[in-house]
Amino acid sequence: MRELIKLNKNYKYNLNHELVIHLDPDYVYIPIKKNYNLLVKSKDLVLKEQIIMENNLNKIISPISGIAKEIKMRNISGAEVPCLVIENDFKEKTKIVRKKAKVDCAEALISKLYEYYFKYIASVLETHKINNLVINGIEDEPYIFNNPFILNNYCKEILEMADMIADYFNIHKTIVAIKASDTSNVNKCLSIIGTYPNIKLSLVDDKYLLGNSYFLRENLGLEELDTLVLSAKELLDMYNAIKYDRYITETFITISGPCLEESKVIKVKIGTLFKDIIDENVKITSPNVKYILNGLMTGSECDISDTIVSSSVKGLIVIPDEKCSEEDCNNCGLCYKICPVKVNPKKVMDTGKVSSNCLDCGLCTYMCPNHINLRKYLRGENEE
Ligand code: SF4
Ligand code: SF4
Repeated sequence: MRELIKLNKNYKYNLNHELVIHLDPDYVYIPIKKNYNLLVKSKDLVLKEQIIMENNLNKIISPISGIAKEIKMRNISGAEVPCLVIENDFKEKTKIVRKKAKVDCAEALISKLYEYYFKYIASVLETHKINNLVINGIEDEPYIFNNPFILNNYCKEILEMADMIADYFNIHKTIVAIKASDTSNVNKCLSIIGTYPNIKLSLVDDKYLLGNSYFLRENLGLEELDTLVLSAKELLDMYNAIKYDRYITETFITISGPCLEESKVIKVKIGTLFKDIIDENVKITSPNVKYILNGLMTGSECDISDTIVSSSVKGLIVIPDEKCSEEDCNNCGLCYKICPVKVNPKKVMDTGKVSSNCLDCGLCTYMCPNHINLRKYLRGENEE
């Protein structure tokens, strides 16, 4: 089992514990993926959940109702891609007829999961004998709080969904995994879990990478082949599909960091521009900041004026824009000591020789007391 690491928080933040709702953007930007046919044109009225792009395997739906405008380049997870702009009419109009089909057995559940694009989960349940189901209420990144917030706000729905899966697929063991330090969720789960005698609570250490499904399963002593780990977010999305025939049009992001008056977890429409979310929901307290998409460990700097929220985006960390380079290194050796695979990041920085062993886990950059961006050197992205 790989050794997990207790992280110190190297930036202070002030977390608002209420979930913030931002579901009324003026515009959303939907990436036009390669090999997809765009099914709408400029000035068309688009309904919420209408299929706007498709190929042989997948369909992409609109998260809002409104008018299709032009195509604009936007940044999605570090890449510039053409996006269809839809102007919101704030009517949330949809043509989808809610079928309210009963999901009362394993076959009906599988069919519903395929219909609502949970293809991977459906295929695992269909092809593997699962004996352990783990509800992941943890996040990987030390400044991202989505799963704990989702579990706290939708605990009943998440446990109900997990209980249904366990019941239909004869899963022997269902576990909610949360950090022992997360007292709010410990109390919340304890207040509800009695309704579900087959679901047990498991409190885990506050260590880095336990939010990752692979490490969480390993830490719980469960085998890979018969264990399914689902995040609180996945179970909530599944619940909304099964119970209310809702496609995924919304997601949760964390905006946090030391340069904000308050850090927040915000429920947003997929396709919203980060700048619009920032302008309306948080107050930046420092003049020179930079924005790290998806967290300090594995994320990368982004420009919020053209970066949009996709379903896989977790959030944004706002930190001081310190210009740090190799000259700031004081040879403390921390980056080497912390590396789980014994790469020497300082040596990589000095020699320019990138190591193929590096996992890009971000630990060395996170731990560097002088905030040197070692990941840049490890990825061979240093310009000089
Ligand atoms: S990013 Fe690479 S060098 Fe740095 S700690 Fe992780 S594995 Fe080691
Ligand atoms: S942790 Fe930072 S300051 Fe210390 S040796 Fe590594 S690069 Fe230099």
